[in-house]
Amino acid sequence: MSDVNPFESLQEQVDDAAAHLDVGDDVIDRLKHPERVLELNLSVELDDGTVERFKAFRSQFNGDRGPYKGGIRYHPGVTRDEVKALSGWMAYKCAIVDIPYGGGKGGIVVDPDEYSTDELERVTRSFATELRPLIGPDRDIPAPDVNTGQREMNWIKDTYETLEHTTAPGVITGKAISSGGSAGRVEATGRSTMIAAREAFEYLGGDISEATVAVQGYGNAGSIAAYLLEDLGATVVAVSDSSGGVYDPDGLDARAVKAHKNETGSVTGYGDTEACTNEELLTLDVDLLVPAALENAIDGDLAEEVEADVIAEAANGPLTPAADDVLTDRDVLVIPDILANAGGVTVSYFEWVQNRQRFAWTESRVNEELESVITSAFGDLVDAYESHDLPNFRTAAYVVAIQRIVDAYSESGNWP
Ligand code: NAD
Repeated sequence: MSDVNPFESLQEQVDDAAAHLDVGDDVIDRLKHPERVLELNLSVELDDGTVERFKAFRSQFNGDRGPYKGGIRYHPGVTRDEVKALSGWMAYKCAIVDIPYGGGKGGIVVDPDEYSTDELERVTRSFATELRPLIGPDRDIPAPDVNTGQREMNWIKDTYETLEHTTAPGVITGKAISSGGSAGRVEATGRSTMIAAREAFEYLGGDISEATVAVQGYGNAGSIAAYLLEDLGATVVAVSDSSGGVYDPDGLDARAVKAHKNETGSVTGYGDTEACTNEELLTLDVDLLVPAALENAIDGDLAEEVEADVIAEAANGPLTPAADDVLTDRDVLVIPDILANAGGVTVSYFEWVQNRQRFAWTESRVNEELESVITSAFGDLVDAYESHDLPNFRTAAYVVAIQRIVDAYSESGNWP
């Protein structure tokens, strides 16, 4: 894994696209920095009565198109720059799928495996208390990310509503259905990865049902992408998590691997499979590679070894800019994160719409609307790619997204 600064990667991606747009440098500069970043030191009592300090961040990158929107990550490797980068990717992601949000992101430097449920609840409620003045259904709407899910979202909603003396389910998305969550939200990120990969294979004249697939990272995004691709007929031959990977050239059973991980904590040791390292998985000779873990999984050197024809970025920022250059030169089609994993935020948007309407949609309606958003964004990306003669799909996605944000900004005028 490379140690490239993800915030610098984001800025480079914006610069690459800006070179193809007729937009002033001053406006582009504005789109390379968050509007504000909150940095916190949370003091939280542990079960043994001692107090521990947890560093936490919330970055609000850009609000030109609507309230800031983005997940909250719990991980020991969270940094200020990582959160800033993730908040920027959210702004561009919401723009490419054309939903009325800006970008935000949060994180706490914590390894959740080291703390009890009660301790994690206190950490989460402490963070929510500090966030309260900044968030709200029309201001900033957090959501799940790595190591957070419905449980943490429900705690944040409850804290916010208690402090505000109101009910406001739209303050956060990714909630349990019983607390105002949406059908289809848990599957949404994996679903958009599947849809985007299917569209890319069709664009290339191939057929996803005949594809072999390797998936790095077997959490929410990766495992669901794997079994939805399998449902289309693709053969998932390798998957991994932070403990290692498993490989079977004849194909795994993606749901059974997930059940094994739920039971044992890891995909390793599943069935009659060969063990493989993450590096081996990323360089397997497969048709489709799905990085679904963390940033910087593939750097320039590793990109030289990648054998896949298509990469669908379920994770945010899994390729360094150097890897992007190598893969562009090698004609590997990369479906950028801001489109491939946009299902999560799109169904979060549907959840927020349902919360405002106080009217729940069926799962089939959610999936149909998601299908339409992702295929139409894919079409916009391809139009830009072909009409501007752009070097790759990532630049095309940013060209479309930047233009939409710039249009919203320029139409609003400047506050003196
Ligand atoms: P998760 O916590 O559910 O899963 C992460 C998985 O990655 C785990 O299986 C973990 O073991 C594995 N992992 C961690 N480090 C690894 C390594 N070095 N090598 C291999 N595997 C490793 O998280 P998630 O929600 O699935 O998020 C994964 C990625 O998808 C992140 O980049 C996240 O930002 C992105 N994403 C998630 C959502 C969402 O709705 N959950 C939406 C958009 C983007």
